[in-house]
Amino acid sequence: MSDQMLTTLQAALQQLASQQTAATLGDRSTYLGASDIGACPRKTILAKRNAPEADLITLLRHRRGHMAEEIVAAAFAVAGFTNFQRQVEVRHTGDIPVMAHLDFVFVSEARKTMAVLEVKSPENIPTDPYGAWETQLYLQMGLLAENCPDYTVEKGAILAVNFGAQGMRLFNGYTPQATIYQGLIDRAGSIWDQYQRYSAGDLAFPGMEAGPLCGYCPFLLDCPKFAAEEVQELNENVEILIELQHQQRDLEAEIGLRKTDLLAIVSQRGPLKAHGQLLRQAVRTRKVLDTDRLGQFLQGYGQSLADFQKSSTYSFLEIRKAA
Ligand code: SF4
Repeated sequence: MSDQMLTTLQAALQQLASQQTAATLGDRSTYLGASDIGACPRKTILAKRNAPEADLITLLRHRRGHMAEEIVAAAFAVAGFTNFQRQVEVRHTGDIPVMAHLDFVFVSEARKTMAVLEVKSPENIPTDPYGAWETQLYLQMGLLAENCPDYTVEKGAILAVNFGAQGMRLFNGYTPQATIYQGLIDRAGSIWDQYQRYSAGDLAFPGMEAGPLCGYCPFLLDCPKFAAEEVQELNENVEILIELQHQQRDLEAEIGLRKTDLLAIVSQRGPLKAHGQLLRQAVRTRKVLDTDRLGQFLQGYGQSLADFQKSSTYSFLEIRKAA
């Protein structure tokens, strides 16, 4: 596919995302959405003032999210469910403009109850749901309860849909939590206040919450948190990584030792069973390049292996003791 076609497709996806955002979410600079409240305040505020253009990966992720919702809705319809509404808009009834769009709301008119289902489409489904997903769900359930006082919001769930090998996983059993909800509304109040003051020029630096996800923030390059050489907020993350690397080294050594011991037994005794497993000495053949012979061969033509080697660059995380 030509570069021109890819550029056209990306521009079209950008247009589609803008149209969809305008149609479903409206002007996001005029309210705080559920994801805004969970994110770093500076990131939320700068994105509202000057929304960065999404790259192709982000655009494709958006489409994947919409597709996941469509698939779930189609499956519910075929399964005979008719008691749900989609993209239900709910607003905080107080002064702070907080608004959320709920993927699915199930309603029982007979019992006057409601339940929220949030659909996610992650690249990998985690063993436990991300904190940000749960925060969003608690906010949604609280807002829905506020908006529908004649109903009882009974429960909520998160359905993760993976288009790869993982399929779907349901994270269930959430109920509205008044304390968590109030905490989120208070946080929204603080972010909104900072947004107003920053926009009026009365606040130089909105609150910053540096963490491991800063690498995906479009405002990292001029973020004051990263102006200094040392970023203490990443201490815990680096500490955990180093500890995991030590564990990995220890584990690899332990695994290697156990394999060597067992191989020594089966290589003498032959195959055996233990712990419901069959152990045997296996031999595999793989082709390797005889570089000595190849070098001699090339020499005959006035060339060497080096003539056919090229450099390629790659990046990796180097960690060493700081001075
Ligand atoms: S780089 Fe991190 S701390 Fe700075 S604005 Fe972005 S998310 Fe916030």
